[in-house]
Amino acid sequence: MTEPEPQTYASRLAADALTIFLFHGVVERHVHKIRNYTRKHIAARRFASILEALTAAGTAVSLDDVIKIAAGKGRLPANAFAITFDDGFRNNFTVAAPILEARQIPATFYLTTGFVEHNGMSWIDRIEYAIECVPQGRVALPVGERDYRDAEGARVLLEEIRTVVKADPGIDADRFASEVQHGLGVPETHGSNDPLDQKLNWAEVRALAAEGLFHVGGHSHRHVNLAFLDAASLAREIETSRTLLAERAGLSCRHYSYPEGTPNAYSDTVIAALKGIGVQCCPTAEDGINPPPFDLFRLKRVMVV
Ligand SMILES: [Zn+2]
Repeated sequence: MTEPEPQTYASRLAADALTIFLFHGVVERHVHKIRNYTRKHIAARRFASILEALTAAGTAVSLDDVIKIAAGKGRLPANAFAITFDDGFRNNFTVAAPILEARQIPATFYLTTGFVEHNGMSWIDRIEYAIECVPQGRVALPVGERDYRDAEGARVLLEEIRTVVKADPGIDADRFASEVQHGLGVPETHGSNDPLDQKLNWAEVRALAAEGLFHVGGHSHRHVNLAFLDAASLAREIETSRTLLAERAGLSCRHYSYPEGTPNAYSDTVIAALKGIGVQCCPTAEDGINPPPFDLFRLKRVMVV
């Protein structure tokens, strides 16, 4: 895929709106053929260039600032932007945080607590890993079997997998990832220390949160679509993430982001449940900027790739 110019992101800033950028990972360099084709993890040099373009054009704010502004305390600076990271990749701490710190740019990191506990991987990362291992293969999707013969075919298939799985509450995404791994004959993998996979451990979470510039929040426990869960499973899912953040790192759950972040990934029920565990701000992953007044549970973000 082509990477947009850093200036493209600066052009999303607006005089009287908040632009929240959504990152996942920052890596020293790109080494995979198929994995990370979406550029969910960007290169460190590119990350620094994007931050330079943003700070030249606007003013960074923290999401704590945004909570205060939403409560009528303080004003939004012109061309305000906030930096957020989803999922809790270790490279957030080892690569991204020092770059942010050197520029004194605040950021919020949303962690999937089960990934931190077990160095876990999301279902789509497990599928990308398996397809990277097998240059040609066949995958049984719920909508039919699909062959791929080369890297381009693999990327087309991965796009279809993303679309099908994210839209269907009837698919257990993790079980599907296991089926794909079995079908391709690769060992069932739930975690790895590749920079595209490795997650923060709790000592690193505590170190990240101890840096006054940064906030750490929740992103569910298993990275499941919260709106797909029944009431009891929803309560268990978010309470587990709240408890682990509190017990392992002494953190409150003031900040949260919805796994997937798509319009079908949250609802009034999900929002009420999150408010019940103390969440005050939970952005989506829907593309857009945020003119005041802010609805702190429906904030839009701009994904950076
Ligand atoms: Zn996520």
